[in-house]
Amino acid sequence: MATVTCPHCHQLVDSQAIACPYCRTILKAYGHPGIPLHRATGDEYLCDSCTYHADNTCNFPQRPYAKDCTLYENLEESKLRLQEQRYASSFGASVNRWVKRNQSLLLLLGLLVVCLLIALSTT
Ligand code: SF4
Ligand SMILES: [Zn+2]
Repeated sequence: MATVTCPHCHQLVDSQAIACPYCRTILKAYGHPGIPLHRATGDEYLCDSCTYHADNTCNFPQRPYAKDCTLYENLEESKLRLQEQRYASSFGASVNRWVKRNQSLLLLLGLLVVCLLIALSTT
């Protein structure tokens, strides 16, 4: 089996390991067959803009000088995605909170509408 060093505790671990058996660091960038290969375009290394390099969870031996990589995850894109998720969940949560807080008001409004409809239909 191929071994690599854990980016966190520097122990030797299996290159296919999902988490370090010593310090429990989740190693997100472990090898997987059959997924797209990302390639660096210019002189830059992929790792420089990779999420897994930034959060130190990559145990690929080619890090930090990867020119192509199957697990490259653009840092800016994942930041944007996180922000969107956070925004969406906070919006949903505040709508929920508002509905809960104003339940009786909404109920009153509903009753009023019903009364109006009845009044209109009987005249
Ligand atoms: S580009 Fe690949 S080798 Fe470099 S940090 Fe990201 S996942 Fe690891
Ligand atoms: Zn470790």
